[in-house]
Amino acid sequence: MERKKFIIAVDGYSSCGKSSFAKAIAQRLGYLFIDSGAMYRAATLFFTRESHAKEGAADRDAIVNRLQEVNVEFRWNELTRHNDTCLNGENVEREIRESIVSSNVSAVSKIPEVREKMVTLQRKMGENGGIVMDGRDIGTVVFPDAEIKIFMTASPEIRAKRRYLELIEKKMEADLASVLRNITERDRIDESRAVSPLRKASDAIVLDNSYMTPEEQMIWFMDIYNQKSKDEGRD
Ligand code: C5P
Repeated sequence: MERKKFIIAVDGYSSCGKSSFAKAIAQRLGYLFIDSGAMYRAATLFFTRESHAKEGAADRDAIVNRLQEVNVEFRWNELTRHNDTCLNGENVEREIRESIVSSNVSAVSKIPEVREKMVTLQRKMGENGGIVMDGRDIGTVVFPDAEIKIFMTASPEIRAKRRYLELIEKKMEADLASVLRNITERDRIDESRAVSPLRKASDAIVLDNSYMTPEEQMIWFMDIYNQKSKDEGRD
């Protein structure tokens, strides 16, 4: 009998390697990986281009008015073997990582109507299980019944360094001090917003990966996964 697949929620602070970790476990288990942050980034790109979001602030009324013009989806990229984020049919995978989007994304993401739209899309993507989704509110709001919930963290300095190196590797503009400022500011807004603030679900397991290699994180995860499969009689 085919094993019923889990929903795995990976939440946590900015730039602590959630996507890399979630991607790796999805690949290992043959699950679908969804980067929910990319969805908020794509919506933010739309509103940044339309000048409804700038310099870290967002015009809520204008954004709510035009929200129905935003369509976000993922398209499989054979070359990279990952999903690319598309905004109204345009591949924006690279552009959504740029610093202008990073500075505006938390302001756009705290608008309740924006969250409502994204959460509806995310739940639809996960309705059949077999999904690993990373974000800020996946274990608390999007999938409160997820079988496995992980809350990731690492020190701000280590996170800034990783993000900086990632940008350099992608040949994108980067400055270590401003990367650190951006991630601590995003964490502050994400943790203090009224709707779906970033917080650890009471049943989430904490993974502090400050000093862990990707291989060590995988071993750590597979222990949890195997135990959960046994507990649920799905192994
Ligand atoms: O994961 P990433 O850092 O790319 O997310 C970008 C931003 O999107 C976060 O700083 C946060 O403001 C927002 N976000 C969110 N809820 C999620 C995922 C991301 O509010 N589930």
